Amino acid sequence: MNSASTDVLISEVGPRDGLQSIKSIMPTAQKNAWIDALYRAGIREIEVASFVPAKLLPQMADAAQVVEHAKTLPGLTVMALVPNLKGAQAAIAAGVHKITLPVSASAAHSLANVRKTREEMIEEVQKIAAYRNEHAPHVKLEAGIATAFGCTLQGLVSEDDVIWLAEQVIAAGADESGLSDTTGYANPAQIKRLFKRLKAAIGSKAGAAHLHNTRGLGLANCLAAYEEGVTSFDSSMGGLGGCPYAPGASGNVVTEDLVFMFEAMGIKTGVNLDLLFEARQPLQAGVPNEAIYGMVPEAGTPKGFVPASQGAYL
Ligand code: ZN
Repeated sequence: MNSASTDVLISEVGPRDGLQSIKSIMPTAQKNAWIDALYRAGIREIEVASFVPAKLLPQMADAAQVVEHAKTLPGLTVMALVPNLKGAQAAIAAGVHKITLPVSASAAHSLANVRKTREEMIEEVQKIAAYRNEHAPHVKLEAGIATAFGCTLQGLVSEDDVIWLAEQVIAAGADESGLSDTTGYANPAQIKRLFKRLKAAIGSKAGAAHLHNTRGLGLANCLAAYEEGVTSFDSSMGGLGGCPYAPGASGNVVTEDLVFMFEAMGIKTGVNLDLLFEARQPLQAGVPNEAIYGMVPEAGTPKGFVPASQGAYL
């Protein structure tokens, strides 16, 4: 398996997005075992942690240790979420390959999530890009537009604001900007409209689709994004996750179901579904009191199912 043989990139965000939004704290050794299992299944980009103060998110207190372990896996892009320059400095010191910074299109969510206005976040992107350029030019910087499709706090989010913000973060020095349905509000028509506009505005710097399944439209939205040319998708094993500051928002798109959809359609993910299902074991063992979702792991693959990536693993 190598990235050249895949059509889409599945970026697993469970160890960050998933684990930070549940009450249980997964022990470091078990996080590492889960990451190893995801890697064995063919996942080649993992958001392994977020660099935030441990008093705010004790689930992420071992971020640097998890990064250190994940970096031993050859060919894996090790990503971390950072809320600000301080977090970016810590992530770079820990040796991440890629930093992702959420910038909220909703003014209300921005204040709740990172206690900064949108304009202040654009300045933060500038500072992080300047720091990165000087100290770690090989590290990629993504600024994802959070609450791009609606917000639990303020409701509607203007599409013009979303595109304006994406243009601003790219101008501020981010390498790419994707769109996040932080609250699970999006529908496929909206996804198509906004990703089309995003591509028109920032071209090849248009980044990943980070979509949630809160209202059951996660896979439909991923497919809509794919049809608009998106090739990088964030998802979470077992549908773990959501956003602790977006009340009522839960459930990232389930990685297992997303991989099945693409593979069944003939679109190569490079991920082996059987090994992916096996990776649910270390996840469940690490957080025994949490519900792990997924339709395909429950039902199994259809009789005679031939995945698009078959043969690519050998
Ligand atoms: Zn999410």
